[in-house]
Amino acid sequence: MLPRSLSPAHFVIDADGWCAGASQRASPNHDARGAGTVVDLLIVHNISLPPGEFGGPYIEDLFCNRLDYTLHPYFEHLKPLRVSAHFLIRRDASLLQFVSTHQRAWHAGVSTFKDRERCNDYSIGIELEGSDFKLFEPGQYRILGNLTAALQAHHGLTDVAGHEDVAPARKTDPGPFFDWRQYRDSYLSATSRAASTVDISADLRFVGLASKVRQS
Ligand SMILES: [Zn+2]
Repeated sequence: MLPRSLSPAHFVIDADGWCAGASQRASPNHDARGAGTVVDLLIVHNISLPPGEFGGPYIEDLFCNRLDYTLHPYFEHLKPLRVSAHFLIRRDASLLQFVSTHQRAWHAGVSTFKDRERCNDYSIGIELEGSDFKLFEPGQYRILGNLTAALQAHHGLTDVAGHEDVAPARKTDPGPFFDWRQYRDSYLSATSRAASTVDISADLRFVGLASKVRQS
């Protein structure tokens, strides 16, 4: 859990790819990235378990392979899955990290970005506790913007996309209630606050925002 007053130091990614202010929950669902892989893409998701319900421990249980599948009928569908994301931002703005950003987490599945397949290879995945049918919490945008700035500084990310942008035939998240403008504004304010301490370029491309503007 992060303190209410956010400081850039809380989000700094250390040499091993772990965020200083995140609660660590090591997930076994990861493997090594290919040698020399440049991590340049951030993928934003939403998840809730059971769907539409917030607050339980089930997302982290799923990512850590300890979900009790008998607790809800929907959970039966999840049995064959071995999945993870690097980060989860919960409704209360707490931040959990499951996989080092230097490792490959299993969040995007079959996916393509700019003609490159298998986005897991070269991306970082952030899950927001949420759904396609409900507004996200202001605190989630604050954490997401700050975390994105820190990840951009550490990895030199060039693009941020939604899961729906890299797997449009299969996925709809983060969905119509995810406010890409609010996200970008949060990112920009995080970068200006951190500019004196971290070298951050402001040329991160918000692919999800561009695709929403085209649709409207
Ligand atoms: Zn997703």
